[in-house]
Amino acid sequence: MTRVADLAALTEDLERHLGDPHDPNSPASFATILDLDEREQYPHVLLDHLRAWRCHEFGVPVSAGGRGVATQDSIAFGTAIARRDATAATALSITMLAYLPIWVGGTDEQKKRYGRAVCNGAKVSWGLSEREHGSDLLGNQMTARRAEGGYVVDGEKWLIGNATLADYIVLFVRTEDRGGPAGFTILVLDKRSTPAHHITALPDEQLHGLRGIDMSGVRLTRCFIPESARIGAEGQGLEIALKSSHPVRVMITGIALGCADTALRLTLDFTTHRRIFGREVVDVPYSRRKLVECFADQLLCDVLANCAARGLQASPDQSSVWSSVAKFLIPTVLDRTVSALAVVLGARHYLRAHPRYGAFQKAKRDLLVANFADGNTVVNLKNVALQLHNLLKPAEADIARASVVFDWDAELPPIRPWAAQTVSRTGDDALLTLPHALDLLRHRGWDKCVRLGELFAGEIEKMREECASLRETRGRRYGDSAELFVLAERYCVVHAAACCLAHRAMSTWIGEPLVGPEPLLLCLQRLWHLLHPLDTVIDESDVDAGAAVMLRLYRENRSFGYRQFALAKSSEPGGEPR
Ligand SMILES: Cc1cc2nc3c(=O)[nH]c(=O)nc-3n(C[C@H](O)[C@H](O)[C@H](O)COP(=O)(O)OP(=O)(O)OC[C@H]3O[C@@H](n4cnc5c(N)ncnc54)[C@H](O)[C@@H]3O)c2cc1C
Repeated sequence: MTRVADLAALTEDLERHLGDPHDPNSPASFATILDLDEREQYPHVLLDHLRAWRCHEFGVPVSAGGRGVATQDSIAFGTAIARRDATAATALSITMLAYLPIWVGGTDEQKKRYGRAVCNGAKVSWGLSEREHGSDLLGNQMTARRAEGGYVVDGEKWLIGNATLADYIVLFVRTEDRGGPAGFTILVLDKRSTPAHHITALPDEQLHGLRGIDMSGVRLTRCFIPESARIGAEGQGLEIALKSSHPVRVMITGIALGCADTALRLTLDFTTHRRIFGREVVDVPYSRRKLVECFADQLLCDVLANCAARGLQASPDQSSVWSSVAKFLIPTVLDRTVSALAVVLGARHYLRAHPRYGAFQKAKRDLLVANFADGNTVVNLKNVALQLHNLLKPAEADIARASVVFDWDAELPPIRPWAAQTVSRTGDDALLTLPHALDLLRHRGWDKCVRLGELFAGEIEKMREECASLRETRGRRYGDSAELFVLAERYCVVHAAACCLAHRAMSTWIGEPLVGPEPLLLCLQRLWHLLHPLDTVIDESDVDAGAAVMLRLYRENRSFGYRQFALAKSSEPGGEPR
């Protein structure tokens, strides 16, 4: 879906399909989900229910028999599912992310063959990581040797989602003894047509969160994989893996968004009912401010995720920037958000058996997966750091291209994940569009937002100078210096602020209660505080305006985002705190 109304209709239909989260008899109730989590059980029934809605088909392109047309759709659905159960959202998205190397590098026939299997309900897992090598992909040791008609594969993949349950495993294997960037290849193992004695499942790992997920690994011993299951050319594995990682990283942010939305909603259930010192907690000024800050975090992360998703399609040349910034910043911010909500919720957030507080804890634990799954936080930061010097260079903005990213109702070009580039050659449309966005907002009279926007523009100048000086003083140690990574952190914050400003300047379809400048101002304030924690940039009236927006979305049971999807009806709105 490209248009806001189409995506809203579909997401709201999915919500209805999931049913009332507080009715224990509904298909995706918190009670059932918590019970499964407590017993570390895989959510088979919920996943079947999602497949009945044909959710999994969005991971396969239309040309290969699926329904996938835009990464932003996957974020919307991933968020909706993770709002109930991040375990189910992750289990489902593992198949989608495992199909991506096929989407990037496969022939049309392969895309259709494996696409049909996915649409028929097959589980696929992405066998990239190895125990000894972690983020160092070029160190990977699973080896494929040429044999008649294909390859013989030996080695282990570990910490692989769905590895034991999967029907297919997409493998990143070494095909050149000396390794190197051209020494790896992608092969698809069809477990159901391979003699079982060649495949050993590794033990299921007990996890901190996502307790019901299948998180294990696989050992292959003299396992034959036919040539027809090779994706791309021999030696193209690293390129395909890196290009696949861009949409995957953006999609994963939906899981963090869903968890944080639930945490905020459950905290509001409590704070709008619980009275202390003669008033509801939500009316205690400090608690109110904290809630509004958390709401702003959710809003800005939703903007960043969706701009990144649209950026992948509108400017695939910059996909390394869109995906890395989103994957670094969103889980980092929302982890902090949910911790802040736990303080507002107080002692009750520690009660495990309560359907609301238990669900809060689960969301808090599960959210963390977005930090490390498919490229950990530091790896993403490094992707930004290593191209920082070029990203900070002044350049001409392409406003037509940028408006496709920032006006969420604009028609998107088709997904072409193979067009992704590992390094941007055209800069960063978010930063380049900032002056234009500020002009539009100035014209609209949103002075406070413009003033803050100008401060962010000033940060770009400062970072440019600091980056140049770091290159000069550090010489060959520049790329590895901690200072460069800190600079990259600041860059990610400024990129997010630029997205918030440009999105709000160029998206004209936004409706009440988000139509005014206050939500944008609050987002910018949250981002500014990441750079300058002690600056005062908003006043009490801004907080009150933000609280009014947040409470209206909450009371009308709509999602905490500019598209404000209607959520499933709740038989027990608010609910009484115990
Ligand atoms: C729940 C879960 C699901 C997963 N699902 C899958 C899956 O389906 N398929 C799959 O293949 N893998 C999967 N993994 C593995 C995951 O993708 C990890 O990225 C991988 O194991 C490497 O972990 P790591 O980066 O923490 O470890 P390491 O590479 O050992 O890194 C350790 C630490 O070193 C630092 N570091 C790492 N790289 C750099 C760098 N380039 N520059 C600077 N510092 C660095 C970071 O601080 C990092 O935390 C999953 C893991 C978990 C926990």
